[in-house]
Amino acid sequence: MSFRSRYTGLIDRYRDRLPIRDDDRVISLGEGNTPLIRLQNVPRAIGKDVDIYVKYEGLNPTGSFKDRGMTMAVTQAVNAGSKAIICASTGNTSAAAAAYAARAGITAFVVIPEGKIAQGKLAQAMMHGSVVIQIQGNFDDGMRLVKEVAESAPVTIVNSVNPYRLQGQKTAAFEIIEELGRAPDYHSLPVGNAGNITAHWIGYCEYTSGSGDHVTEACAFCQGHCKFAGGAVTGNRPVMVGYQAAGSAPFMRGEMVDQPETVATAIRIGHPQSWVHAWKVKEESGGWFDECSDEAILAAQKLLAEKEGVFCEPASATSLAGVLQDLESGRIAEGSSIVCTLTGHGLKDPDTAIAQSSRAPIVVKAERGAVEQAILANL
Ligand SMILES: *Cc1c(COP(=O)(O)O)cnc(C)c1O
Repeated sequence: MSFRSRYTGLIDRYRDRLPIRDDDRVISLGEGNTPLIRLQNVPRAIGKDVDIYVKYEGLNPTGSFKDRGMTMAVTQAVNAGSKAIICASTGNTSAAAAAYAARAGITAFVVIPEGKIAQGKLAQAMMHGSVVIQIQGNFDDGMRLVKEVAESAPVTIVNSVNPYRLQGQKTAAFEIIEELGRAPDYHSLPVGNAGNITAHWIGYCEYTSGSGDHVTEACAFCQGHCKFAGGAVTGNRPVMVGYQAAGSAPFMRGEMVDQPETVATAIRIGHPQSWVHAWKVKEESGGWFDECSDEAILAAQKLLAEKEGVFCEPASATSLAGVLQDLESGRIAEGSSIVCTLTGHGLKDPDTAIAQSSRAPIVVKAERGAVEQAILANL
């Protein structure tokens, strides 16, 4: 029996397109290679003839796309001799940083907003043995503090301001093109710091222009780390659309938001770190930003769970909520192919899920008749 085709993570799979040296020690948990699921019941339910795929990033090792970036960032940190990493987080970055640090045998410091991260994410950060620092402030405060502290403390920042993060995350675009045989017409993502929408655009540009020597002028995003050859683009690239929660939508306001608020805690960010990049992605791809109400976000989360069997966290459902709005208004035409990134798993945030689920559990006596009655009443 041969194990040669065993999947060993995205660095091994896309080694020739990533900033990695042959003798680097790779810190991986088998991230990437996530399912691209074609929705069957949602298009029927909304009466539209469209091809909607969801890229189920919740099936990464720690339950979010952050693992794609973290395998690269921690690999780079370890090979550069770093003994500790630090991040500010709305939850998923801390979960990923904690897990990859554990794997690497280094220390992770995670700075999170007190009381504003989902239970599953806090459990992960604690269980993987990271040092959890809860601040009486929001993500934006945490990000500012992390940058200040890292000026003097011997720690490597693994937020998406670390260019290796975006390098890892760009591989999701590679997987989509390889699976569909081309890029979709539209790619929709929830936007917080806007690192992921930027990473996807790097991936689409790089893949469709072929690998080659890096041309700094051609790629404004990667600080010299990608393999974008520049020049001729031979394949199609998607229109990139980014959706934000209405209470936390600096890209819609056109300026930073100081008190962001939304049920979608993963995108409760008012001062996006990739602000300039994201505007460029919008411009280059011919895309747009829009906002969704918390109600629309939760409705989309429920629709996916109840109609397709796909459970994502609230922030992730923003990608579908926005697409549903734009299909309704006609901004996205019928007949289009669309990929929505489902950034994180629904189990991350059980409290929000239980609070809004349609069916409360039925409590009955532990007797055959009572169970039968419950079944008959609900058939
Ligand atoms: C981090 C995160 C986002 C936002 O990604 P950005 O790169 O910050 O725009 C969206 N959804 C989930 C679940 C996340 O963890």
